[in-house]
Amino acid sequence: MSLTDMKGKIWMDGTFVDWRDAKVHVLTHALHYGTGVFEGVRCYATDRGPAIFRLKDHTERLFQSAKIIGLDIPFSVAELNEVQQELIRINALDSAYIRPLAYLGAEGLGLTTKNLQTHVMIAAWSWGAYLGADALQQGVRVMVSSFTRHHINSMMCKAKVGGNYVNSVLARGEAERLGMDEAILLDTNGFVAEGSGENIFIVRDGQLYTPTAASVLEGLTKAAVIQLAEEELGLTVLAKPITRDELYIADEVFFTGTAVELTSVREIDGRPIADGQPGAITKALQQVYFDQVMGRRSEHPEWLTFV
Ligand code: PMP
Repeated sequence: MSLTDMKGKIWMDGTFVDWRDAKVHVLTHALHYGTGVFEGVRCYATDRGPAIFRLKDHTERLFQSAKIIGLDIPFSVAELNEVQQELIRINALDSAYIRPLAYLGAEGLGLTTKNLQTHVMIAAWSWGAYLGADALQQGVRVMVSSFTRHHINSMMCKAKVGGNYVNSVLARGEAERLGMDEAILLDTNGFVAEGSGENIFIVRDGQLYTPTAASVLEGLTKAAVIQLAEEELGLTVLAKPITRDELYIADEVFFTGTAVELTSVREIDGRPIADGQPGAITKALQQVYFDQVMGRRSEHPEWLTFV
């Protein structure tokens, strides 16, 4: 199966084109230098039809990423929000992963970006559990990567820039070669940063913690989970520097992210986390998170856009 060979429409620079015709030239700047910014968005099948989770926030983050690396997106947030909804409708999707990308084109190939144009594409297709079907139930086995998350003055990690993700691809590839599901990256000071494509939480003595590492993405799932933990489970969440050994002795560890949703980490570097089963707080948060994204709760209607 190739992602190029599917039915449906992809939106490119203002037009819906046939899936198989959604092509760019090989001299596209972003292909050579990673000069694109992207989002990953999920649309869920709810009782009231497909609903996109935190659509506006994702699109706003796309524009922030563009601003950080100096791209000028020639559309508005409202326009791109509408396109994402329209893609769900015209591709007749119940649930979907949506991938918007703004990237520099083939108007030139030096490192100057002066005369280059920012192009935008958005595709949507069905995509199941990111780390496999069992991951959500049983949790995943991970390793602390030999790769370090970017120094904040080399790559700007508040932006989802294509080029930044070579670091993630290396970490994930290493983890897979060693038989693990996913990697955790430390920052340049040796503190826990995040997973290759997800934020991380630990639980100790009923208290939730997230890393203060500056080189992590400001995850929208993370922000939602913090709110749900506080509002629904009466927990507090503290940000603090987290060390590698604190991961090992945590009562619970879990990842959050649009793709990974909320997934328990059951083993790190060959050490089971507690008894190696998803913990009670992780499971409770998973429940409230899925109730939320599936539209089974009346709270936070602002997070769901019904298409
Ligand atoms: N960190 C990284 C590096 C990511 O790529 C992602 C996925 N976008 C996340 C964290 C989680 O962010 P979100 O919850 O907004 O998807």
